[in-house]
Amino acid sequence: MPYKREIFEKAQEILDKRRNQAEAKNTAVMMMFENTEPLYREYKNEMIASVKEAVKAIDMSPDKAAEFIEKQKIRNLTAQENVKELLRKHGLPEDYLEVKYSCPECDDTGIKGTRLCSCHIQLLKDLAYEEEGKKSPLRICTFDDFKLSYYSDKAESSYDVSPRERMKEILSFCVNYAEGFDRRSPSLLLTGKTGLGKTHLSLAIVGKVIEKGYSVLYNSAQNFFRELQNERFGKSGSSAFENMMLESDLLVIDDLGAEFSTTFTVSALYNIVNTRINTGLPTIISTNYTLTEIENQYSNRISSRFIGEYLNLHFEGKDIRQIKNEED
Ligand SMILES: [Zn+2]
Repeated sequence: MPYKREIFEKAQEILDKRRNQAEAKNTAVMMMFENTEPLYREYKNEMIASVKEAVKAIDMSPDKAAEFIEKQKIRNLTAQENVKELLRKHGLPEDYLEVKYSCPECDDTGIKGTRLCSCHIQLLKDLAYEEEGKKSPLRICTFDDFKLSYYSDKAESSYDVSPRERMKEILSFCVNYAEGFDRRSPSLLLTGKTGLGKTHLSLAIVGKVIEKGYSVLYNSAQNFFRELQNERFGKSGSSAFENMMLESDLLVIDDLGAEFSTTFTVSALYNIVNTRINTGLPTIISTNYTLTEIENQYSNRISSRFIGEYLNLHFEGKDIRQIKNEED
């Protein structure tokens, strides 16, 4: 799988950080041990000295050199043994003074032999996945980034409270709904003009409900009907998708009314809404239509189910996408 250069750079950065942290921690451990046990410093110096001395063998005759190197080797191993003995005395593990890399396979270099280490490959995968996730609407549309300041704090003549007050109530309702969600939660009908945050709040609920471990099916009405239609009139003879719509813990249909309405869509919608009501499973539907318009478009069988069984949250205000543009 090809990765973008930034992903490689980020992975390298993380590996460097892991390695540096492991080494810095090790230095601190050694310093601490040196302070509690002065003998350790002596043995350590002995080890360093033996390595330095061994270099002198270059100028010696081959016989003498071999003997000299052997002597330094024994000196070094004795010092190592002494250190181990010290650790035992303090009840510490034998590898106490070694660097603890998060990946012992490659010592956090990310390279094993001439290949990328498996920890490096995993890191690249995780980073690519994270990068993908950042673009997902679930990451962007959370309760935290729902901005009430986009809604006017002035009451319009026909309503008692300002759009901001109204939206504050809706927001707090949705937060509670998501936090307390279970398979017995009520169904919601989100109505109001386009660009008032219905999709944003639906997605914020979806994100929380998924976090809680429930199965959620979310899509626009248009896409749902297209899938259903493909399944119904396709060759597979399967009704897997329809079953998923009927059985998921939460079903969210966004922007009902934007699809091309046919007798098929009308009866499919009724079947889904009605079956889920009968099995007691919650559904969230958002639409720019009023209840009267729903009745005209889909029959009063459906609108009366909405009136009787759904909680209606009506969104107020001026198209916030327009306000965002004015701010830019
Ligand atoms: Zn590794």
